Amino acid sequence: MIARTIKDDLLPAIFQAIPLGFLESLTGANPVVAYYHIVSDNDVPHVKHLYRFRNVSQFEKDLEVFLKLYKPVGLLDLLRSVNTGKTLPQHSFHLTFDDGFRELSDVIAPILLRKGIPATFFLASAFLDNKEMALHNELSVLIEHIKRLPENRQREINDFLAKHQLDGKDIPTKLLSIIYQRKELVPRIARFVECDLTGYLQRTRPYLTSGEVRKLVAQGFTIGAHSIDHPRYSALTLKEQVRQTSESVSFLRQNFGISCSTFSFPHGDSNVASDFFKEIYDRRILDISFGSAGMLKENFPRHFQRFSPENSLLPVEPILRRHYARSLYKRLLGKQVINRTQRANSSSFETCPGPRAFIMGGG
Ligand SMILES: [Zn+2]
Repeated sequence: MIARTIKDDLLPAIFQAIPLGFLESLTGANPVVAYYHIVSDNDVPHVKHLYRFRNVSQFEKDLEVFLKLYKPVGLLDLLRSVNTGKTLPQHSFHLTFDDGFRELSDVIAPILLRKGIPATFFLASAFLDNKEMALHNELSVLIEHIKRLPENRQREINDFLAKHQLDGKDIPTKLLSIIYQRKELVPRIARFVECDLTGYLQRTRPYLTSGEVRKLVAQGFTIGAHSIDHPRYSALTLKEQVRQTSESVSFLRQNFGISCSTFSFPHGDSNVASDFFKEIYDRRILDISFGSAGMLKENFPRHFQRFSPENSLLPVEPILRRHYARSLYKRLLGKQVINRTQRANSSSFETCPGPRAFIMGGG
């Protein structure tokens, strides 16, 4: 608790007057890699109960700050740097987006093209072309549907969820406690609450189509894999981690002819052990990968950590300051480099804060 106060409140307050560029050089965070999921001025039922997201004006303000502080680089610059061992120019910055929402094409790409900012978009192959919806997106739609029902109906639903061993103080918490391994519960719940998830998917089309992805690639954006269907990697066996990764990357290679095999972890890379990274890089399944532990460093030179300005009401400067402060604090303790244990499900390191109900937990 005291440690958290020092790194989250005290250090950012002390660093308030120090230029961000100087903090960057103190922490040695280069490149800085940011990730978002979605940018929209609309209500987005499949996301709104999971995390906050930027509207267009907030996103453009974030980009102005990034352009003032950093030099945007593309994925291939990162790849060249890891392949040759040559360090990137100071203040390098790469922008990424997870989950393959259609707003990448409708909202985000036009802004980035106008500002000349390269970016990488990470897609889960099962959701491309709106063939199916991710568990966490379905849960958000269900929460939105249930909150509009009469109170007595909500009480029945609460009892129904409790009978299925879902814990939590209210309906949203109970629903968001459903893990990937119990996702077969979702169609039963949807039937019980009379929510047409298939109709929602067809009507709303939350994700990109293959045609839109081809257009984004033709516009110069890079794409990477985000698993097949978005499981939490720390809860999978090593074999399944490798399958989800290699099949989703192969899918992108075959369908979109990508030259760099890149990957970002669904729900972040917290508690993913080093045996996964050794396997995936020894077998050359990936060229580069991304986690979401902020600005910490990695023992694996091809694995980069990212921070996110999303899920906060703050502008991006204080968020950056907080991440730099946290990184410096860890550096002072000698814990800036993530220490992964060798085997799955036994390592532990602190990642971006994420309450239980914030199902994304990064990525
Ligand atoms: Zn994701």
